Amino acid sequence: METQAELAAELIRRIETEGPIPVASYMEAANGFYYASHDPFGRQGDFITSPEISQMFGELIGIWAADLWARSAADAVHYVELGPGRGTLAADAMRAMAAQGRKPQVHMVETSPVLRKLQQARVPDAIWHEGIETLPTDLPLIIIANEFFDALPYHQYIKTYTGWRERMVGHDQDGFAPVPGTAPAEHMVPEHLHDAIAGSIYETSPAGLAIARALAGRIKRQGGALLVIDYGHEDYAAGDTLQALNAHAYADVFSNPGANDLTAHVDFTALARAGKVGGVRIEGPVSQSFFLGTLGIAARAAALSRHHPERTEEIAAAHRRLTDEEEMGTLFRAIAMVDSHWPRAAGFQVAV
Ligand code: SAH
Repeated sequence: METQAELAAELIRRIETEGPIPVASYMEAANGFYYASHDPFGRQGDFITSPEISQMFGELIGIWAADLWARSAADAVHYVELGPGRGTLAADAMRAMAAQGRKPQVHMVETSPVLRKLQQARVPDAIWHEGIETLPTDLPLIIIANEFFDALPYHQYIKTYTGWRERMVGHDQDGFAPVPGTAPAEHMVPEHLHDAIAGSIYETSPAGLAIARALAGRIKRQGGALLVIDYGHEDYAAGDTLQALNAHAYADVFSNPGANDLTAHVDFTALARAGKVGGVRIEGPVSQSFFLGTLGIAARAAALSRHHPERTEEIAAAHRRLTDEEEMGTLFRAIAMVDSHWPRAAGFQVAV
């Protein structure tokens, strides 16, 4: 697919022949094009992520990984990142780990050729993977996923006056629009939602849960841990969280597929359940503010400011952005899935 217009034409052709397509198929095609075609991050881009806000984020994750590895019995591990963006988190984490004398082989799971190039510039000796299947099987895996699961395809279901239906995407002279599917979909929706009022929306990402389950299985067999940081909810009942971002503003999900970043809130309760099925210990979820606070972000911010007094204001602003309740502190959460033979991970209990 060369251009966004071609992607739209292809989606319209598909809808004209097959009928309306699931929201998940629309999201997969739109995000596939979006990430493959450009670098979405930073002040000039569509959105900004924690590692792009401050080096402190990646450094603390590097220290988290080095600490867990040091307290395990493993001589060597692989460091894996899912959807590493510009490679900033990995570069900051590797610097922090190297300072602790730890240099794991880095693996990047990335589908976008544009972002792979940027990652290559930051972490030249990494190994790239299209999916998790080809990750090595010889050593424990310490896997980091920041804002990865929110970008995977989500299915939506809507309660209509005649029962639950999958939410589909149709197309007419006014463009793309959501429409309820025709087949009953009660069996796809948790039982406690069956009697929800008309208009209620239920979301789930089987693709994300399958990845979590598979990685939990790897960790159980090989050792290691998966750290997921993302925005989302626990005890999700129902609600539409699918959103489109363009130039740091909300856009219409169903307009201009491939031009906006489409994401939905991560269901941390479902993620934890998937990990348990895979056979690992679950730690958290806790808020990003608690996680980074427990790992010592305040001390790191103070040290950075001492070394760079001219940047004191900027460092304080980044600290607030990452941890304040009304910024990324509360909506973002951290959860870890750890091999049951490994020690407890840092960041999930009050420090003693
Ligand atoms: N972790 C980064 C980037 C988050 S954006 C950060 O915090 O800045 C989402 C990332 O996931 C991008 O790198 C995108 O290209 C990648 N991605 C999206 N869908 C993917 C998929 N199905 N498989 C692998 N990578 C994917």
